[in-house]
Amino acid sequence: MRIANLSGRLALIIDGKAVDVEKASAGSFSADPQAVYERWEVFRSWAAAADLPEGVAFDPAELGSPVPAPRQTLAIGLNYRDHASESGFEVPEGLPPVFTKFVTSISGPVTEVKLPEGGNTDWEVELVAVIGHRAENVAEGDAWSHVAGLTVGQDISERVSQLAGPAPQFSLGKSYPGFAPIGPWLVTPDEFEDPGDLELRCAINGEEVQKGRTRDLIFSVPALIAKLSAVLPLLPGDVIFTGTPAGVGLGRDPQRWLAAGDELVSTIEGIGELRQTFVV
Ligand code: ZN
Repeated sequence: MRIANLSGRLALIIDGKAVDVEKASAGSFSADPQAVYERWEVFRSWAAAADLPEGVAFDPAELGSPVPAPRQTLAIGLNYRDHASESGFEVPEGLPPVFTKFVTSISGPVTEVKLPEGGNTDWEVELVAVIGHRAENVAEGDAWSHVAGLTVGQDISERVSQLAGPAPQFSLGKSYPGFAPIGPWLVTPDEFEDPGDLELRCAINGEEVQKGRTRDLIFSVPALIAKLSAVLPLLPGDVIFTGTPAGVGLGRDPQRWLAAGDELVSTIEGIGELRQTFVV
C-alpha cells in the first residue's frame, strides 16, 4: 500500500493515481495525512477491504510530505561505514549519534530550497522510516511490526552552522526551511521483497554523487527502533532519518556544495524520488 499527501489531503496511491481517503471512506478517516498513523491498523484493514473509486491523476509537485507534522523526528548520523570514514569520524558503537530536524524544515518531495547565505549546503539521501505503532522497549525481532512504512528523505545540511562552536550542533544546521523533504509517498514494508536491502542514490544535475544499499547500514531499521525505543517511546507518525552513505560534498576533495540552479534528485528503489532545485 502507498499513501500520500496530495495538496494537504490523505490519499491512497493506486496505479499511479490518487484516491481521496476522507471521501472514499465517507468521513471515517480524516483528510489530515498526519492523523492516519494514530489509527494505522484500522486504516490498513479498511484500505485492504474497501471498494475504492477510480483515482485521479496528479502532478508530483502537488504532493506534500506523507508525514507532514511528526511529534518527533530522530535523525541518525554516521550510520554507514564509508560515510563515517569520509566525514573523519570513528564508526559508532553502542548508540549512533542522534539529532533532530525541526518540524518546520519538513517539506514535500518536489520543492525549491533557499540556500542559506554564507553557508556550505550539502546533500544526504536517506531512507526514512515512519512509526505506525507506539514503540517502547521493542525487541529488534519485533521492530518491523512497529513501522508504518518507508519513504525517501533528504537530510540537507548546512555545514558551517552544523560544525561551528565548541560542540557540533547538527540539529540547527539541518533545519533551515525546506531542509527535510520527504516523499513522494509512504510505502508499507510488505511491498518490498526485502525492506532491509534497498538501493539509494542521488544526483546533482544528472551526475550521480551517492549510491549505496540499506543493507550496509551499521544500525538497521529494526536495530534503530530497538536502540531508540529503549531510551524513549517512539510515537505513531514519528520519523526516523536513518543516515546517509558516502558521497556527500563534505567528504570530497575538493569539497563541493550546492549552488543556485542545481537540481538534486534523490531516489530509493521501490519507493520513488525527491526533486529539489536550489535558489539564493
Ligand atoms: Zn543525515
